[in-house]
Amino acid sequence: MANNKPHILVLPFPAQGHINPALEFSKCLASHGLKVTIILTSRASKSAQIPSNSSIYVETISDGSEEGKEPESIEDFFKQFNAAVSQNLAKFIQEQRATCPAKVLVYDSIIPCALDVAHQEGLLGASFFTQASGVCAIYYHIHQGLIKYPYEDSELFLPSMTPLEVNDLPCFSFIPDTNNTVVRLLADQFSNLEAADWIFINTFDKLENEVLNWMVSRWPFKTVGPTFSLIYPGKKLMTEKNHKINLFELNYEASMKWLDSRETGSVVYVSFGSVANVKEQQMEELAQGLISSNCYFLWVVRSSEEHKLPQNFTSMASEKGLVVNWCPQTEVLTHRAVACFMTHSGWNSTLEALSSGVPLIAMPQLVDQMTNAKFIEDVFRVGLRAKTDENGLVRREEIETCIKQVIQGEKGKKLMESAGKWKELAKEAVDKGGSSATNVEIFVSKLLNL
Ligand code: UDP
Repeated sequence: MANNKPHILVLPFPAQGHINPALEFSKCLASHGLKVTIILTSRASKSAQIPSNSSIYVETISDGSEEGKEPESIEDFFKQFNAAVSQNLAKFIQEQRATCPAKVLVYDSIIPCALDVAHQEGLLGASFFTQASGVCAIYYHIHQGLIKYPYEDSELFLPSMTPLEVNDLPCFSFIPDTNNTVVRLLADQFSNLEAADWIFINTFDKLENEVLNWMVSRWPFKTVGPTFSLIYPGKKLMTEKNHKINLFELNYEASMKWLDSRETGSVVYVSFGSVANVKEQQMEELAQGLISSNCYFLWVVRSSEEHKLPQNFTSMASEKGLVVNWCPQTEVLTHRAVACFMTHSGWNSTLEALSSGVPLIAMPQLVDQMTNAKFIEDVFRVGLRAKTDENGLVRREEIETCIKQVIQGEKGKKLMESAGKWKELAKEAVDKGGSSATNVEIFVSKLLNL
């Protein structure tokens, strides 16, 4: 039966924060009667736990990473990645042509070379942005040469955006990158965008209204977020155990059982996402801050980060806290026990918290997280940004203060109200007739009539 449905290919960048929104978008498309194949690249599929009962198909192409030799620099990584993906994507599309030809490629906006491949192979191309519109606007200005990197001004006034200080701008100092490869890569999302047949972004109209309007006056961006709450039949019955592509081993039962035994609104959920490497000293401050807050906490520490935890921390904190390597975050955020989310402010985490009505404590580490943290505190007004000292560390006292303010203080009440408001607006966007749901429906109806 799938052979009669229009076939859509979806190519996410091989990182958890890119795969998750692409997968949710794919499931939504599949529920509207399309055949959807997610193409993972080998770097992701070697650790991916792929759901067996999914409505979408998952295939792998090589991105060159299995050749054994790790690229020497980030620049080499992207050269190898782009060359291998372009070649193998073309081959994949040609192979599919024999059995179930694809009509459209939805590709991660940070792989713009995929659009060229799609067009060469006779497919339409839809760029899929996984960052906030405000962050995209900054990258657009960098692309146009209107913002120089390294940043030159101490304060920036961009159209339709709150003033930004350097500390609020995407930060790239985390990695040795003398040629600014990552900055160029992010700016290059705009390099061939005028040729894209559709442009989608994981946000929603009311969240970033002004800056979205400004972006839309230049590019036909269509909002489809929060993809995490996109509604499709059967979604409510799915647990993360069997509907996500996790690149890390999931501690499902441990996390959920522990939360089930906690009182409503009593737990601080702590996670820094899938990429950030938190400094050892920062881990120590965080550990001590969590203990002295005297609150219950569920802390995700990826196994590669575990060695940075203070000695004996896990047993020392066992009365109050649980440390896991990876949890079902979207289920955790909607659990009645969770009172607030101490986060690195990745865009998915931010949207997932907003959609769940959970206030945030932002501790940004790198790239767009700095800008998201600014929005969280000053624009969405749904959280606090923890203050750093002169060495860039958030000290234990600050962590304790932030937790107490959010969970117990007057400020906390206001943040909860605001979180509740965003939860409603996020739901409205994805409900029938809402802005994101309508954008998906228009896309689907075009595809069904191609
Ligand atoms: N996530 C998860 N379990 C965890 C931590 C994170 O499933 O224990 C998911 C989270 O729900 C989000 C993604 O991983 O969808 C992280 O994306 P985000 O943009 O927040 O941060 P990144 O990992 O890209 O820095």
